[in-house]
Amino acid sequence: MIIVIRPHTPPEQVEEVIREVAQLGYTPNPIRGDFQTVVAAIGDETTHASLESLTALPQVERVLRVQKRYKLASRESRPEGTIVHAGGVEIGGRDFVVMAGPCSVESEEQLMATARAVKAAGAVILRGGAYKPRTSPYEFQGLGPEGLRLLADARRETGLGIVTEVLSERDVEFVAGTADILQIGARNAQNFQLLVACARSGKPVLLKRGMSMRIEEWLLAAEYLLAHGNPNVILCERGIRTFENYTRNTLDLAAVAIAKQETHLPVVVDPSQGCGRADLVKVLCRGAIAVGADGLIVEVHPNPAEALSDGQQQLDPPAFAALVADLEPYLQAGGRSLARQR
Ligand code: PEP
Ligand code: MN
Repeated sequence: MIIVIRPHTPPEQVEEVIREVAQLGYTPNPIRGDFQTVVAAIGDETTHASLESLTALPQVERVLRVQKRYKLASRESRPEGTIVHAGGVEIGGRDFVVMAGPCSVESEEQLMATARAVKAAGAVILRGGAYKPRTSPYEFQGLGPEGLRLLADARRETGLGIVTEVLSERDVEFVAGTADILQIGARNAQNFQLLVACARSGKPVLLKRGMSMRIEEWLLAAEYLLAHGNPNVILCERGIRTFENYTRNTLDLAAVAIAKQETHLPVVVDPSQGCGRADLVKVLCRGAIAVGADGLIVEVHPNPAEALSDGQQQLDPPAFAALVADLEPYLQAGGRSLARQR
């Protein structure tokens, strides 16, 4: 950390800062300029007490962080990158993984029709919410345990791995009984008790970015999962809330490139929540490949007009098949190939 002391601070007040820095467990190195003194505080910023509180001293102008706040998630800690094994596929390797399925599991017919269609088109993981976080309490909240049962049936028939959301710490064990990958939703991405419970479940976790989360906060949420013993973390960019209203969210593809640079974790893109419009999903998938994403999670419904949630952004099976076929040259250009089921 660098502590910048205000110009013309009397020497005894500079000494006070130096004493405080030492008190907090750092080695202070004052650098005295003609007008201003800065104190370089040497020590591990992730384990020592924070020096940021020194801004409370009137003679301190600013405190600047040098070290990143995440360690286990940082690219330096694993330069070769992490491959997550889930549902019979590798996520984060050379193969590009397509996950697809309905926003919500609605019925056996709806789920099975979708599962067969997305598998035929090239998806290797089936998505589908049994527990749905909805903006209004009067909207469809998912089938709960019945939805999980249908997902397990779909896996049995198709061999597709299952990614499904867990909303509450209380349900983690139960949902982990069915899921190959636990999804932590945007609304829960900083629910730290849920993060810890998911980490301890032993199941791979797909961590969405919260809708107003900074990249650093998202990576720190991933750090929670890693710090609680779960190395199998997949980051998912799903758009953030901005002032724009042509789209539901603003898909932040720069965040994907940054997450790939900053961390060793696989990163997937959810273009469906990312823009909230079926007509944009295909082009955003191309963009996701171009910025280095390791996969996609796309909403597909046999009849989007009748969907119980997110109908406006779900693709029908022919549109999804066309999308996957369209990706081929983009994957080739990026040196990737579509992950296949083993
Ligand atoms: C979803 O995947 O259907 C969903 C609710 O996602 P998010 O948490 O990103 O809004
Ligand atoms: Mn949805």
